[in-house]
Amino acid sequence: MTQVLSILGSTGSIGRQTLDVVRHLPVKVVALTAGTNVDRMAEQVAEFHPRLVSMATKDAAEALQRRLPMSAPEILWGEDGLLAAAAIDEADTVITAVVGMVGLRPTLAALRRGKRIGLANKETMVCAGELVMETARANGADIIPVDSEHSAIFQCLMGSRGREEVKRVILTCSGGPFFGMTREALAHVTRDDALRHPNWKMGEKITVDCATLMNKGLEVIEAMRLYELPPEQVDVVIHRQSIVHSLVEFVDGAMLAQLGVPDMRIPIQLALTYPNRVDNPASGLDLLSCPPLTFAAPDPEVFPCFAIARAAARQGGTACAAMNGANEVAVERFLRRQIGFYDIPDLVQRAMDAVPFVKDPTLEQILEADRLARAVISEN
Ligand code: NDP
Ligand code: MG
Repeated sequence: MTQVLSILGSTGSIGRQTLDVVRHLPVKVVALTAGTNVDRMAEQVAEFHPRLVSMATKDAAEALQRRLPMSAPEILWGEDGLLAAAAIDEADTVITAVVGMVGLRPTLAALRRGKRIGLANKETMVCAGELVMETARANGADIIPVDSEHSAIFQCLMGSRGREEVKRVILTCSGGPFFGMTREALAHVTRDDALRHPNWKMGEKITVDCATLMNKGLEVIEAMRLYELPPEQVDVVIHRQSIVHSLVEFVDGAMLAQLGVPDMRIPIQLALTYPNRVDNPASGLDLLSCPPLTFAAPDPEVFPCFAIARAAARQGGTACAAMNGANEVAVERFLRRQIGFYDIPDLVQRAMDAVPFVKDPTLEQILEADRLARAVISEN
């Protein structure tokens, strides 16, 4: 069970919910990091008294320094600051709640120090999951998923004797705000339409990924890496109610599912308290008042990002890093209203076609695929 915690991305959706969970647990917070949100970080420092804080830029770090009294924590910035927070001596657990590939090196740094990772930052697993798992194994470090579907699978696998018992895992998918719409209707949707998720309140990048179904594609790859499964053993069903968080089917035909209200504090808390379970501020699920549970197949024609991610999952190597890097930039451009909804899959596919493929990449080759994919998208 976690005693001392470092949170990478504490000002974001997962970061804030992690702190909400921590308020109810005997856990000390030793390090916090953020991008540029100085106001929110100043509030968090005043409440949680970390020894180390890091911001993404020098300007933000200086602005924070001016906001805090003399007894302020050590304030760092940039990748060095993120790495210092990830590897900080006192922490036994690091919650990786930054968005995007920027989380990769810090995750590896924490694992090399044998720390438990509460893994929210799925882009890291998509780009370099094999390397991350190898590093965890070599250092005896645990990776406990925070992503609700992967936490559900983690829970369904508790007590299972080995992968040979697993027939497949089934990730559930809310379908996002555009479920049931046609390609014609979707051609003109805007960022604001995409940001209206029916069941979850999350950061902007993942919310757009849910609208394109890229999020579910990233999660297929995340599940393959975390549970060492081939792509054909990871299925996806649309489940609009977000009550069943995912399922495991075993070879004898038994199927286990994890159910609960859609509240990220449940998987976040388990990542901190595992192998224990304790009271949670989230409310319980009332089966008698919850809506009927429905399941449907995803439509890869209307949501090509899902098909692209499935293809990258089969290809492996640097294909996943190229896809992820391109998607990060394409989503950012969509959020800035520079491109349309279907430009996202088009640009991602273009970048994947342009980036040379490496089958068993080193960390450097993964970072290079990411860099090249971003360059292709930025130019077009
Ligand atoms: P948010 O956008 O809400 O938060 C991102 C956090 O990262 C913020 O603290 C932000 O700081 C910080 N950050 C942004 N850019 C940088 C940077 N360049 N360097 C360092 N820190 C940076 O995202 P979410 O909390 O929604 O998601 C975080 C991760 O968790 C993602 O990988 C997402 O896919 C995953 N996830 C999220 C879920 C959710 O419910 N939100 C569910 C499952 C997975 P600042 O506030 O200053 O910008
Ligand atoms: Mg998820």
